[in-house]
This record gives sequence, structure tokens and C-alpha cells, in this order.
Amino acid sequence: MKKSHHFFYLLVCTALLVFGCKSSEKQATIDKSAPTNSASDTSATDDAPVYTKLLDPAEVDTTNEVDETPIWVMPKGDYNPEQTKKFHLFHTKLEVSFDWQKQYLNGIATLTMAPYFYAQDSVTLDAKGFDIGKVEMLQGKSNQSLKYNYDSRKLKIALGKKFAKNEKLDIKITYTAKPNELEVKGSEAITADKGLYFINPLNTDKNKPQQIWTQGETEANSCWFPTFDAPNVKTTQEMFITVDKAFVSLSNGKLISSKDVGNGLRTDHWLQDKPHAPYLFMMAIGKYAIVKDKWRNIEVSYYVEPQYEQYAKAIFGNTPEMMEFFSKILDYPYPWDKYAQVVVRDYVSGAMENTTATIFMDALQVDSRYLLDDNWDYIIAHELFHHWFGDLVTAESWANLPLNEAFANYSEYLWFEHKYGIDEADDRWKDELSQYLSEAQSKQEPLIRYNYLDKEDMFDSHSYAKGGLVLHSLRKVVGDAAFFASLQLYIKKYQFQTGEIHQLRTAFEEVTGEDLNWFFNQWFLAAGHPDLTITDSFANGEVILKVVQNQDKRYTPIYKLPLYIDIWVAGKLERHHITISKKEQEFRLKAAQAPDLVYFDGETQLIAEIKHERSIEEYDFQYKNSNKYLARLEAMMHLQDQVNDNELVRNTIFTALNDKSWQIRQEAARALERYSGTADKGKYIQKLKELAINDPKSLVRAVAINTLAALDKETNSTYLQTMNDSSYTVLANSLYAYANTGGAEIQSKVEKFEKIDNFVIAKTLAEFYSYYNTEGKINWFIEKMEKRSGGELMYLLDYFATYVVAQDADVQKRGANLLIEKAKNDPNPTARVSSYLALKKLDKVEDLQNILKQIRTNEKDKQALQYYEMLKE
Ligand SMILES: [Zn+2]
Repeated sequence: MKKSHHFFYLLVCTALLVFGCKSSEKQATIDKSAPTNSASDTSATDDAPVYTKLLDPAEVDTTNEVDETPIWVMPKGDYNPEQTKKFHLFHTKLEVSFDWQKQYLNGIATLTMAPYFYAQDSVTLDAKGFDIGKVEMLQGKSNQSLKYNYDSRKLKIALGKKFAKNEKLDIKITYTAKPNELEVKGSEAITADKGLYFINPLNTDKNKPQQIWTQGETEANSCWFPTFDAPNVKTTQEMFITVDKAFVSLSNGKLISSKDVGNGLRTDHWLQDKPHAPYLFMMAIGKYAIVKDKWRNIEVSYYVEPQYEQYAKAIFGNTPEMMEFFSKILDYPYPWDKYAQVVVRDYVSGAMENTTATIFMDALQVDSRYLLDDNWDYIIAHELFHHWFGDLVTAESWANLPLNEAFANYSEYLWFEHKYGIDEADDRWKDELSQYLSEAQSKQEPLIRYNYLDKEDMFDSHSYAKGGLVLHSLRKVVGDAAFFASLQLYIKKYQFQTGEIHQLRTAFEEVTGEDLNWFFNQWFLAAGHPDLTITDSFANGEVILKVVQNQDKRYTPIYKLPLYIDIWVAGKLERHHITISKKEQEFRLKAAQAPDLVYFDGETQLIAEIKHERSIEEYDFQYKNSNKYLARLEAMMHLQDQVNDNELVRNTIFTALNDKSWQIRQEAARALERYSGTADKGKYIQKLKELAINDPKSLVRAVAINTLAALDKETNSTYLQTMNDSSYTVLANSLYAYANTGGAEIQSKVEKFEKIDNFVIAKTLAEFYSYYNTEGKINWFIEKMEKRSGGELMYLLDYFATYVVAQDADVQKRGANLLIEKAKNDPNPTARVSSYLALKKLDKVEDLQNILKQIRTNEKDKQALQYYEMLKE
């Protein structure tokens, strides 16, 4: 699974009205008096989520309690074992149809099973919130009714006799699943996971298609069929889905047949004949355009809403190449019968790797202009790689989730390295590191976490970001050949079975011949990360490198860290390999003369906080001499601070506007925004104009426009030209730049772009309309909000509230009603909380505090509740 954006992070950004939060669409805002905040006083370099500042351990008052437990130490729950297997589940056959009015699923499930080892006279299935009709044992042509107990969560069936190991039985259950009526009982954990979702069920919303889709992970598929809902169960699967003929259906495996069954209905028969886990079962039903593609002899398909048919290949078209690449590096061809990818509305997550049929959030439905700025490769790669790590070899328990997610996350690095080069891959590495380190300020856990309090807690930046980083680190330790050979061995050994962390370790040990407990213990089974202070000096033909491990030893190990030290002497690079293993350690490395630069961790493989002071001259040298993108970027970030004080540095930044890496060109252009001097200003403006129009990368053009507008308040004719750019980000920034430099007729310029279906443009217009209180735009807002979800919707809702507050009473009332409805009933928890936050701005609404309270009281989603709790409401 891939969660969409950083839920809390985005929410808190809104709550605090800090719009400096980094989003992939970060851009300028209207000048100083903008309603929320302006671009200039938010730091573009600050990637750390704002919410961590609320929880920063440094702000905890420790004056009296020096040994206080750090805030990131998490409470431990009981040991969470792999679920005991009492039965082998061989085959699951489901026959389903739907009642859209009531949002029910009518089902018949036939389960073929046999006792796993010990003889059994009863079987207990997960079945959440059903009406049970009949429970029978199939016996030739006649069926025998079975006695059962059902408490709306577990269905315990008496088998009438003892069945021995391997003695097969078929149980048939007739039931109705009622996912919207799931009861939350007494002490049971509150959950909003309902497994089966009806979108626009009564077709009352003209802006939304009717759809049905499912979300199984972690244990929600037992809300729509009875099963052993645990990741260590593997079963083949057969689905007979009866739907209105106007809809298409998608499920796992192959489509065997489609039959007209009368009354305007059709039954589709899907067969998944290779075993997989119950949480990977899926259905999606809706009106879709199906765009066909191919990898080797396997069908690849993209299910999108009809108006996106023309863009489906532009969005998903790298899939066959990814399948080829992953099949090769794993020496294991894509193992399944087909690969379909479907986009659904109001999805509860980012994407889900249901075997052969991945579901994505609707943010992936974009046009080709959007794709000039960014693409969705990372999430497409992530879900595809799960088809080996997750679907083929499945983490045996949620405690072992990184065996699925760390690999899926690392596949993003692997794909970018392969397709776009090492710099792009390293750029992702940097983002993953900052994501993990920011989470680590409030939470530090082992990756493999047997003592979690709630299995949903496993889906965090530890399992994902840190997990991927740890695999990259492991690759650097054992080398590329051993790394991929070990993955190949692990996959082949445990295919169609499950894995736990020690099986991964022994696969690596078998390949390398080395004991790797030291690596797995510190990175997979212990919490935390190294916090290093590095100092270097030179004397008597030696560089003396001192390394101190500062992390809190009560909770974090002293690490063993093999890595490289790059030393430039007389302009020449010399690389040294060292292994850190003590709390404090000194290394002496030969050098003929005082070095130009000592660069710690030459391969950038450490997951660590590193303090290593260098002079501006050393950073300047680092930028000019390293061939590593991350080293040059790091140098550029430090040089920026000197843009007004140091001419040498300013010359380096100017040179960097021509860097081969677009991210560094972008950073250099951003650095000049802070320039307040007059020397060379004309030269910079000239170069920025060139970049704004001609740089091959749209995001560099966009930043050049911002900087240009900051440096040159007089000229705005350039922006009339860049408003014709194909890139949405360039267009948006051109509008801001034009407005901020006093461009004429800005309202009519802005209105021209109302019809564009793109978040960056919608956000720009929303900001303009709320800033200028433009009348008559409420319908425009509503239409745009219908099309967005997640963090994007959150931004628009916030502007919407700002807009509505300044309008007349009627508009305010309409706006309030819409927000109340969304905050109560939107299927997506992020959307509900974002609507709630927006609603809070409408302070003239009658009885607002009671309405807000009611919304909080009715909330069932755990994260949303935690968030309300954090707001102290
Ligand atoms: Zn995933």
C-alpha cells in the first residue's frame, strides 16, 4: 500500500496556516498582503514537516529531569505473533451482486480447506458485520446444514465431526455484507475500515461517477467475504461478479467469461489460480475506458475514466518497461496472469497492490501538460514491485511489514536509477531520509516491530522511507552483485509463501558467506539511527578524523558503520574505506599535504544525522569538484546563505545556473531571490530571463520566474510570454509574477484559465479569488473541489473557507452547509478533517461550536481522532 501524501503533515500545515509546507507543487503566492502567508517568509529549504516543531524534544523542559524519557520513545504493546494456522485454505469462490440503494453486497462464498496439522471439529472465520443466511457443507450433490455461532465479527462453525490433517472440506456460506452498518462494539478497537465502498451509490452527484471498490489491507476484506483474514494465508480465488451491463468489473487474475443474465445484468467470471493472501482480493466496478498495453505475452491494462483515455498511456505507459526491468533484476519474470491498474474516486489511501489489479487514487488522472512537470512513476513502480515483495512472498505478520513496504519503497530508487539516472535516484534518497528523520523526532521504533499497539501503526515512515534506506545501505555494504543475488534467492525460496525477517537475513548470509546479524540487529530489530559529530584536522602527513556517536544509548545501539571517506589532496580525489564501531573513534588517513576537502560518507549510504562543519571555501570546492549530485546540492544549500556577502560564492551560484542537474539549477535560481545588492544584478536578470523561457526543465523555468519577479519589479512583459508555456507550474508562477509586478488586468488574465483541470492552476485561481474577494465564484470552487482529494483538496478547502467568509450571507450559508456535509460524510478521512478545519474559519455560522463538536464525536477514523486530540478539541 502507498499512503497518499503525509496525512498529518498536510493537516497541521493548514491548522497552523503555514503555507511554507513543502508540496510537490510548491510555488509562489500573491504578494505580502496575501490572505494566508507569502512565499518570501517561508523557507523553501525547510523540508521538515511543521508539526514536528510542536513535538521537538528540544522544546521539552528538562531543566529538572535530565534523564527524562525522550518523546520519541514509544509505548510497547504485547507481542504480536503470526496468526496460528489451523487450516489450509486452498480455494475461495465468491458469487456476488449488489444493492446500490442499501449499499449491500449479496454473496455466496464457497471455501475449500483442510486442517493444517492438528485435527479440527470446528472452524472460525473472520466475517465482519454480515447477515448470515445459510452455512452448509458440500457433500456430493446434497448439502448438509451446519450449526454456527456468529457475533458479527467471527463466524464459528461446527463441522459435525473431526477432520484430520489434509482431509478436505467445502463450506458454503450465504450472506449479506453491510459495510456501512459495521457495528463498533464496546471495547473493540474503533475502525473506519469497511473493506467495500460505494461511491455516489444513488447517482445523486452529477460530478462523480458511480463506483464500487474494495480495500483489504490490513484486515478489512472480511467486511465483504468470510475468510481467515491474516497475511499468512494463501488461497486461489474465483469471483462471479454480477453488475449492471453499463459497468465494467475488474478483479484479480484472468477474465474467464462474461454472461448476460437478464434484467440488464451481466456476470463476469474472474479466476486467480495462483495462491495469494486474502488482503489482496479486490473488485472495482464502474464506467471505465480500458486502455490495453502489453509486456512480453502478458496483458497490461489501464482503467481510467473515459475523459482520461487519451492520457492513460502517458500516465501509466512506463509499466511494461518497469515489468521488464524488475523481472530482470530479480531474475524472476513477473509472476502473474495480467497486470491491470485502475483509478478510483475517493480512495482511502494512495494505492494498493491487489494482485494483478492495483488500485490508485484519482490524483493519477492527469493530462499530458501535467506530466511536463512531474510524473507518477514512483507510485506505479512501488505497487508493481509489491507483486514480488508482498504478493508473491508476503510478510507473514504485520510486525514484518517492512518485508513488503521497504522493498516497494526501494523499488522507486531502483527504477529512477535505471530510467532517469543516479542523480534523480539520489534526489529521492534525500527526500526519503528527511521524511524518516522528521518522523524520528516524535517516534523511533524498530523496523520489525513485534510489540506494536495497533497494526495500522506499522504503515509509517519507518516501514516505508527508513525501510527503503536500510535496503540501500545493505546494498552498499554487500555490493550490487550480492545484493541482487540475495533478493533472487529469497524470492525463489519463498515464492507463494510468506517471509519473516530472519529468512531475508539467511538468504543474504547464504549468498555472501558472511554473518549479517550485526547489520540486521541494528537496522531492522533496533530503534533509532546514528547521530554523528565529525571533525577533521591535518598534522604530520595524516588527516585525523574524529567520529563521535551521540545517540541516546539507553534506546539506540552503538552502530557498526562501514563507509567511505573522500579526501581531495592537491585537487586529486583519494578514497578511504573505514568502519566505525565505537562511541568515539579516531582514524588516521595518509595525505601528502593539508587536504582541500574531507568529505564524510562518500557513497551517501548512511541513515544518520551528521554534523561535519566545513568552511565556505570548502563548500565552494565541494560544489566544483565532487561528481556526486548530493554533495554538490549540499554545497549549494550552504553557499546560498552567502549570496549577499561573498562575491566568490555569488559567482559560483551564477555558474550553477548552467549545472547539468536541473535540481541544482533550480536551487541556484532560488538562491538569487535573496540577492539584495546591485553589482551584477543586470547580468543575473538577463540570465534568469533566458532560463524562464528556455530551460529544458519546466520546474527550473518556474523558479526562474519567481526570482526574476523578486529582482526586477519593473518589467512584467516576460510573464505575458511565459503565460503561454505548456507547463502548469510555469503558468501559475507567471500569473503570480505578473500580479506582483503590477501587471494590468490581472482578473481577466486569471479567469481565462478557469476551465483547466489541474491542481496547481486551481490553487492559483483559488488564491486569487479569495484574495480579491471576486464575486460569483462559489460554483467554480465547488466544481474544482469535487475533482481533488488528499492534500490537494485540503488546500482548496482552505481557500474556499477564506473566500466564503468574505461573501454575502447566502453564499456563506451554502459554503457552511457544504463543509458540514463533507466533514460528516465524506468517505475519505483526510477530506473529512480538512473540511472540519475549513469549517472552523466560518465563525459567523450559528451554533458552530456544537456542530464542530458533533463532527468530532461522530468521527471513527483513528488518525482523524488522534488529530482532533492533538488540536486539543
Ligand atoms: Zn506499499
